[in-house]
Amino acid sequence: MLELSPLPYAEDALAPHMSAETLAFHYGKHHRGYVDTVNRLVDGTALADLSLVPLIRQLAGDRAQRTLFNNAAQVWNHDFYWRSMSPMGGGRPNGALAAQIESDFGDYAKFRQTFLDASLGQFGSGYCWLVAGAGGRLGVYATPNAETPVADNEEVPLLTVDLWEHAYYLDHRNARGAHIDTFFDHLVDWDFAAANLASIASLDPGSDVPAGKFLVK
Ligand code: FE
Repeated sequence: MLELSPLPYAEDALAPHMSAETLAFHYGKHHRGYVDTVNRLVDGTALADLSLVPLIRQLAGDRAQRTLFNNAAQVWNHDFYWRSMSPMGGGRPNGALAAQIESDFGDYAKFRQTFLDASLGQFGSGYCWLVAGAGGRLGVYATPNAETPVADNEEVPLLTVDLWEHAYYLDHRNARGAHIDTFFDHLVDWDFAAANLASIASLDPGSDVPAGKFLVK
């Protein structure tokens, strides 16, 4: 059985950039609903004993289990999204991550534009991700609906932005671009992304890797 992870800050801690109303619904209704649905669907089955990431990986690609996969992936994606933001967030990265962004995207402004373009180009719901691939090279891409990089472990997710309308409609109405700009100007937790990047080099490949700390294959 899964438990709804605590929000890493108060529901009003990201205001005015992300309202308490958005977090009350997004965390308290949507995220909680995904947890409840997973628990209802796995109850009494062999899947009930799996923790979240092994469950997602076992279900990925199984068309008969799409509903369970979608809900399980949404639980992980939302945990990761909350931790991609901080009440002290926003602004530019520094240190090794900043250097890697300049190396792989040209400069920070080009990275921001790449992330914005990928987010606006995602037709319908989904997420936009900053990931580290083989050799630590950074990439940006959007995924549809509940799809998640953790399903196949090809890349290490560093941070994500939820592109579902429930993430921004109360605060920005239809303006997805304002949602992305607000994330980078005021909310992004670069320390979280940097810790995820650093974890690639520091983890033993055989270790029991916690969510958000994945090794490149
Ligand atoms: Fe969401």
